[in-house]
Amino acid sequence: MSLQYDSLFIGGQWVAPQGPNTIKVVSASTEEPIGSVPEAVEADVDAAVGGARQAFDDPSGWAHWEPARRAEVMERLADALDSRAEEMARRVSAQNGMPVAISSQFEAGFPSLLLRYYAGMARDASFSEERAGLMGGRTLVKRKPIGVVGAIVPWNFPQSLAFFKIAPALAAGCTMVIKPSPETVLDTYLLAEAVEEAGVPAGVLNFVPGGRELGAYLVSHPRIDKVAFTGSTAAGRSIAETCGRLLRPVTLELGGKSASIVLDDADLTQSMEQLFSATLLNNGQTCFLGTRVLAPKNRYDEIVQIFSALAGGVTVGDALDPTTQIGPMASSAQRDRVEGYIAKGVSEGGKLAAGGKRPEQFENGWFVSPTVFAGLDNNATIAQEEIFGPVLTVIPYDNDDDAVRIANDSDFGLGGSVWTSDPNRGRDLAARVRTGSIGVNAYLPDPTAPFGGVKASGMGRELGPEGMAAYQELQSIYLDPSGVSAP
Ligand code: NAD
Repeated sequence: MSLQYDSLFIGGQWVAPQGPNTIKVVSASTEEPIGSVPEAVEADVDAAVGGARQAFDDPSGWAHWEPARRAEVMERLADALDSRAEEMARRVSAQNGMPVAISSQFEAGFPSLLLRYYAGMARDASFSEERAGLMGGRTLVKRKPIGVVGAIVPWNFPQSLAFFKIAPALAAGCTMVIKPSPETVLDTYLLAEAVEEAGVPAGVLNFVPGGRELGAYLVSHPRIDKVAFTGSTAAGRSIAETCGRLLRPVTLELGGKSASIVLDDADLTQSMEQLFSATLLNNGQTCFLGTRVLAPKNRYDEIVQIFSALAGGVTVGDALDPTTQIGPMASSAQRDRVEGYIAKGVSEGGKLAAGGKRPEQFENGWFVSPTVFAGLDNNATIAQEEIFGPVLTVIPYDNDDDAVRIANDSDFGLGGSVWTSDPNRGRDLAARVRTGSIGVNAYLPDPTAPFGGVKASGMGRELGPEGMAAYQELQSIYLDPSGVSAP
């Protein structure tokens, strides 16, 4: 696969880039070049924001259309993406190492699912409501699109996480400038082709591939109205500072270090597939994974053994092989980071129960063996910091209260899970964990439910009706007391 692009999709057209540089994309599995795209510069962002601004401000344009008309366009985009599903999965997997079995499900499937879900919401939701007041009058409460959105997405689930933003923003009537990560830009071009084919009006969706400086430029651009960001906590803090200074609304989906709490009555042998998804999905490069496994002291050795068998039993291989369960890290820098944490775990006294080194069978590709640490408590660096790789730490606890205490003893609060043979006990214990979302005997975000983090895992929510509300602003019109009725 070698895909060369030489233009940018801005204002509904393929335009020449204004800078001289390109972003070269390399396969995570083979380290071979697989394509290149122009690197957008600030002037391109200006043009993209200009296109989005014009589309938003047009008095008969997208923001003012009947929501059902927007829904039709969104469904056409869903169809255009479905017809590219296989290629989309391949592009994502080749770039970031996500096993193609996973990208087929998520990266190729989730975007159109979200578009159809939010298209339905656009049709059914109420965008204005008349309320009887307590002071005798009546008020018209309008939910208006918030404006031009600058969206910044990471490389780990580049399409799904883009559509956590695009689908609700389109339903609300916003227009957007989207900045993908330099590691995953080839999928963006397939998306732009689908946008063009679906007849999304010019300027509604614009794409500017580039790095963090370009992202920072977009965040502070004077002509955007809202920022939606998914990425690291460090970048999120810097973006929040900028948005605070500018009083600019921002949604932040950041890092995590979630707990998988195994209760004393859990029968894990029945749940190995769910356990894998909740702790190792996408080579450990997933924000919500429960990489701190909390085990009751009296079952500690058994649970270390179960997780070691899980980690040691998965098929590690080329991301494009459909039988692969764990592919390579997305970049050599990412592998260095993961290996640095493994060394840190060992230096702090951790015992390697599984993995810990590079698998021997690969000459190329940024592989790390799925790794399980025992013998550390929750204060260890690898139990406190996000690793973003296939590295689990099994931590002992005394009783349920102690498990909740340890789960909450974290800077983060994004995902998590509870494993038990008693679903009600699991639900009640889950409710005590300070986290934005948590599963019982499985973990999988659902489009209908708000997703996001507390503490250093972020601010605001995506998905569900709450996800669309994040792209709306409220206006109250106190109606003429003489009785003019609302439209
Ligand atoms: P990153 O923060 O380095 O980069 C994410 C994106 O932000 C990239 O497009 C990057 O170019 C851009 N960026 C970086 N610094 C910026 C800045 N100061 N201003 C504007 N843009 C900037 O993160 P990453 O390494 O690409 O992704 C992994 C991180 O993302 C992990 O911490 C992971 O937990 C997090 N993540 C969170 C969620 C969630 O929903 N909470 C989902 C997936 C990933």
